[in-house]
Amino acid sequence: MGFKMINVQLKSNEELEIMRRANIVVAEVHALLREAASPGVTTAELDRIARRHLDKRGAKSAFLGYHGFPAVLCTSVNEKVVHGIPSDKEPLRDGDICSIDFGAIVDGYVGDAAQTLAIGKVSERAAKLLEVTRGALGAAIEQCRPGRRLRDVCGAVEEHVTPHGFGVVRDFVGHGIGRKMHEDPQVPNYRVGGRLGALRLEPGLVIAIEPMINEGTFETKTLDDGWTVVTADGKLSAHFEHSVAITRNGPWVLSDPEAIDPR
Ligand code: MG
Repeated sequence: MGFKMINVQLKSNEELEIMRRANIVVAEVHALLREAASPGVTTAELDRIARRHLDKRGAKSAFLGYHGFPAVLCTSVNEKVVHGIPSDKEPLRDGDICSIDFGAIVDGYVGDAAQTLAIGKVSERAAKLLEVTRGALGAAIEQCRPGRRLRDVCGAVEEHVTPHGFGVVRDFVGHGIGRKMHEDPQVPNYRVGGRLGALRLEPGLVIAIEPMINEGTFETKTLDDGWTVVTADGKLSAHFEHSVAITRNGPWVLSDPEAIDPR
């Protein structure tokens, strides 16, 4: 990361309230998609469900048009890691896993979260991959306390995953979030050194933590559509993400509707 400045924008209490509202819209969409995603439903249908809910809440998509992205969801089925484009030609099948990433803008602030859904009955291996990826996100969130360093958050993901033999994606990382979807600091899913790793967590820092974990090798490649990222070995990949505020009393998981405000 060299000597690149890390430009962290701490959020006020009022800003956190707005970000909570944006993330509640995100969580509502994820809940609707958990209900809807089943064998035979296409990823484009999921995208339409998300669009309708954005309209209903008067919120904007954080993804549509972002560097030209054509949808409000990223839907990444099986060996797709991230940034898959919803399609009418892509019905979900029994045994698939489908990663869904979604961002919403409310009053100028962005909420961002992702989940990987098991469609019908999935293999034990797939179920394990989802469990470990979700667990890695939980372990990282637990580190989101004042005085900890960014490397504690990043390292928690890697250390949770590695014993299971899965691959931690390195080509894509989490991020600070606020008025922009991608703010400083970057939040890798492996223990980082240097100034980034040493960054001290402070109340008002909001980060989107998003482990992307592969069944096999960590390596990825991007398809010819310029968006869809797949595993280099064609094996499965899972992705879970929450937007998390550091408060003086610990983490506030803004994109978890059940999370209480610890301030
Ligand atoms: Mg994100």
